[in-house]
Amino acid sequence: MNLPPMHVLLAASELHPFSKTGGLADAVAALGQAAAQAGCRVTIVTPLYRGIAAKHPGIRRAGWKFDLPLGKDLVSGEFWQLDLSPGLSIWFVDQPAFFDRPGLYNEGQRDYADNAQRFLFLTKAAMLAARYHPEPPSIIHGHDWQVGLLPLLVHFARVTGSWPDAPRTVFTIHNLAYQGVFPVEAWQYTNLPWSWFHLESAAHYGQLNFLKGALYLADALTTVSPRYAVEICTTEYGCGLEGILRRREHDLTGILNGVDYQEWNTQANPALPFAYDAQHPAGKAANKEALQAEMGLAVDASVPLFGNISRLTDQKGCDLILAALERLMPETRLQFVLLGSGDPELQEAFQALAAEYPGKVAVRIGFHARLAHRIEAACDFYLMPSRFEPCGLNQMYSLRYGAIPIVRCTGGLADSVTDPRDDPDRANGIHFHEPTAEALVWAIRKALAVHEDPEAFRHFRLNGMTADFSWEKQAAEYLRLYGDVLHGP
Ligand code: ADP
Repeated sequence: MNLPPMHVLLAASELHPFSKTGGLADAVAALGQAAAQAGCRVTIVTPLYRGIAAKHPGIRRAGWKFDLPLGKDLVSGEFWQLDLSPGLSIWFVDQPAFFDRPGLYNEGQRDYADNAQRFLFLTKAAMLAARYHPEPPSIIHGHDWQVGLLPLLVHFARVTGSWPDAPRTVFTIHNLAYQGVFPVEAWQYTNLPWSWFHLESAAHYGQLNFLKGALYLADALTTVSPRYAVEICTTEYGCGLEGILRRREHDLTGILNGVDYQEWNTQANPALPFAYDAQHPAGKAANKEALQAEMGLAVDASVPLFGNISRLTDQKGCDLILAALERLMPETRLQFVLLGSGDPELQEAFQALAAEYPGKVAVRIGFHARLAHRIEAACDFYLMPSRFEPCGLNQMYSLRYGAIPIVRCTGGLADSVTDPRDDPDRANGIHFHEPTAEALVWAIRKALAVHEDPEAFRHFRLNGMTADFSWEKQAAEYLRLYGDVLHGP
C-alpha cells in the first residue's frame, strides 16, 4: 500500500496491555500497531496508572517534566516512554495524584470526583506532546470522552493563533453512551474563555459534556462500525447527541474494529491448554472438557456449552441472558459459563443461578484475561444480546475460536456476524432482533437445532473460524481517512 509519510498521535485513557476496562484498550493498541506496521509513525499518549511501570520494566522516564494549567492550579507531570518498534512509541503521562489509584475511572461503583481534572490533564499532556514533539504529528486522533475536549482545545489554539499550524483532529466514538458529563464549573479546567462554552461547543443541557466538544469540532469523526455510525444519528441510539451527529453525518465514518490475531489465536496461545484451528478442531473439545473441569461444570464434550464474557451492564443485555436461562435451564440440555463484573445486582443474580444449577451453570465474577481465552476456546456458542453495541470484540474473538455467536442484530454485531437468512453459504452465527428474553430464547433454541445437525454446526463453525477481521484491513481505512483529512478526499 502506498502511504504518505505521516505521524499520528493517538490519545486514549486505556491501552492494552497496560490498562483496560473494555474494547477501547484493545482497539487503540491494535490500531497503533497496525498503523505503524503500515508505515506511519505513531505516538500513543495514555496515563501511567498504578503498577504499569513496575509491571513493564522497559518503560523509562523520557526526561520531560512539565507543568500544565488546570483552572487556577499549575499541575506538574512527567512523560515516561516505551518504544515498541522504530515507528511506535508510547508516552505515558505520570501524575501520581491523578493516576496512581486503584481504579481507572472509579472505585466500586463510584466515579472519581475529579475525573474532569484527571482527563483534562491527560488531554493537555497529549497536546503538549504533539506540539513540542521533535517531529510533530500531522494528525491527533482522540478516543472517547476522556479526551473529548481535545479537538476543541486544538481548534481554539489554531484559530486564536497560539498554535497556527496545529495538527488536524480525528475523533473516534467507541461508545456514545459514555459522554463525560460534569457540572459547568468544570469548564474552568479547560482554561478556555467562558465565551467558548456554548451550545455549539461542549455545553449540553446546562452541563459540560466532554464528548460533545469533540462532535462539533473534530475535523473528522469515526465510530467503530458502519451500522453504529447510522444508528447513532437516530433518536433511539443517539443518546441525546443525534442532532449534532446528523449535522456532521458527512464527516462521520464507521470503521469496524479489527482483531489482534497474534493475541487472539488458537494455535500458539499460552492461555490455552490445547491448540486447535479450523483444520484441526480436536483440541477444541479438549479445551471444553478442561474448562468444564476448571469451572465445576459436568465434564461432557457433547453438551452444548454457551458462554458470555462482559461488563455486567444494561447495555450488554445480561438481564436478558438471565431471564432466558431461567426459562431454558429446567428443561434443556445445555451448559452456561459467565465471566464478568459490574452491576452488583446482576452479579448476585448470576451467582444465584449458578447455585440453583450446579454442574450446568458456572459463574466467575472478576476480570481475568487468560480465562477469557479459555472460555472462548471451550464454548460452542457465545451469547451477545446487547441492547446496543458500537462494535463489540467478543463476537469476533468467538468466531475465530469456533464459538458460534448468537447476537442481537445491532451495531458491530450486525456488521460482523452473518445470519443464515441473510447469506446461507457464509452463515457463521445467529441474529435476533427484539431486545427481549423471548427473542433470545428463540435464538438459543435455533442454536440448539444447529448443534443437533453436525453438518450445519461444522458449516457455521468453519465459516466463523476462517472469517478475517484483521486490523491490517481496518487500519488501511483509518489511513485513507487520515489522508483525506490532510489532503482532501
Ligand atoms: P466493551 O468495550 O463494551 O466492554 P467489547 O466487546 O468491545 O465490549 O470489549 C470487551 C473486551 O473486554 C473484550 O476484550 C473482552 O474479552 C474483555 N472483557 C470484558 N469483561 C472481561 C472480564 N470480566 N474478564 C476478561 N476480559 C473481559
